[in-house]
Amino acid sequence: MAECSVKITVLGSGTSTGVPMIGCHCAVCTSADPRDKRLRPSILVSYGGHNVLIDVTPDFRTQALRTGFERLDAILFTHEHADHIMGLDDVRPFNFLQRGRIPIYASERTMGAIHGAFRYIFDGAEKATVVPQLESHTLNGASFDLFGVEFTPIPILHGAATIYGFRFGNAAYLTDHSEIPEPSLDRLRGLDVLFLDALRYKPHPTHSTVDRSIATVEQAGAKRAFFTHICHDLAHARTEERLPPHVRLAYDGLEIEVGGAAPARGAGGK
Ligand SMILES: [Zn+2]
Ligand SMILES: [Zn+2]
Ligand SMILES: [Zn+2]
Repeated sequence: MAECSVKITVLGSGTSTGVPMIGCHCAVCTSADPRDKRLRPSILVSYGGHNVLIDVTPDFRTQALRTGFERLDAILFTHEHADHIMGLDDVRPFNFLQRGRIPIYASERTMGAIHGAFRYIFDGAEKATVVPQLESHTLNGASFDLFGVEFTPIPILHGAATIYGFRFGNAAYLTDHSEIPEPSLDRLRGLDVLFLDALRYKPHPTHSTVDRSIATVEQAGAKRAFFTHICHDLAHARTEERLPPHVRLAYDGLEIEVGGAAPARGAGGK
C-alpha cells in the first residue's frame, strides 16, 4: 500500500466527568462556546474506507450519531478506566450493519479488566438478547497492522500504571499520562501531529498539565500538537491565547488530516 493520508476526528476532548460537570455552575461549565462542551476522551482514525476507534467512552452512542460514521473496523483501548471503556455495549449496531465481529486490541491487563467489566459479552453463553460480537487481541507492545497502516503501542505512565498511547504514521495519541518514559519519547520524534493529555494547569498525580505537555511537545519536536482530556479549569478561548501557535486545545468534532501514514511492513502484520 502506498503512503496514505489519515483523518483524525476528535469524538471527545473532556476529562472523566465530561464538561459541563453535573452540578457545576462555573464559567466553563456554563460557557456558550461549543468548544467548552467536552464529552469523554476518544478519537476516530479514518483511512482507506476504514474507521479505527481509540477508546469507547460512556458517550460513545452520542459521539457516533453526531459524527455520522456507519462503519467500525477495529477498537484500540489505551487502558481500562471507566471513561475509556464503558460505551462498549453500544457498538452492537455496527455488528448489525457489518454482519461480523469487531476486533478489539488492548494490553493483557486492560483486556482482562474489559472482560471482567463486560462478562456477559465474553462468557460465550447462549443469550436471549443480542450482545456485542467482538474478537479480542492482546497487545504485547509490538507494532501491528490494521488495514495497511502500522499502529505502535507507546508505553506511558498514568500515575503508577503503565498504559498505552498509540502512534500511527506521523501522528500519535497519548491520553491519560503523568509521565512519558524516555524510550517512549524517542519513538515520538518529529511527528506531524501529537495529541497529549493536559487536564489543567494545577498538578495532578495521574495526569499531565498544560505546561508539562507544552514541554513534551518541544522535547518531541512535534510540528503540531493538540491537548485533550481537559477539565473545567480550562476555558477554550482563553487557554489558547496563552499557548504557542503550533499547540492548540482539541475540541469535540475537530478533524485533522495527517499525510504520509507509514504503511505496515510486510503482509499480515506482526
Ligand atoms: Zn481518562
Ligand atoms: Zn465547572
Ligand atoms: Zn485513566
